[in-house]
Amino acid sequence: MADCIFCSIVAGEVEAAVVAESDTALAFRDQSPAAPVHVLVVPRDHHESAAQMALVDAQGLADLFALVGEVAEAEGVVGTGYRVLTNVGRDAGQEVAHLHLHVVGGSPLGALLGPRRG
Ligand code: AMP
Ligand code: ZN
Repeated sequence: MADCIFCSIVAGEVEAAVVAESDTALAFRDQSPAAPVHVLVVPRDHHESAAQMALVDAQGLADLFALVGEVAEAEGVVGTGYRVLTNVGRDAGQEVAHLHLHVVGGSPLGALLGPRRG
């Protein structure tokens, strides 16, 4: 999709610190890490959300989560634990419209949600 930063990373047009990949998905470090481990796992195809992808490519969504497992192994957080989350839409603060799973860990992550604003 035009003007999508994650499509550009998948296409190799924009550099990223890739940590794992599969035929259908790519995992790279978040440029503004919120935890010692902060990796983004994205499908190579552009989808707006996990729910939307599930309707058109359920196997691809399963592959995405399989890569999450590989990332957790590679980053050494399987034993200590980690969190997988995906923001959807304005209220969640989604900045990039291309589906991405945040994989965060490496230290205690605290409560799921920060303070509400508004
Ligand atoms: P979200 O708010 O869920 O849409 O998160 C978007 C995430 O993508 C943020 O955590 C950004 O730091 C991250 N991000 C945006 N552009 C890049 C990039 N070029 N390389 C790595 N991470 C990025
Ligand atoms: Zn995209």
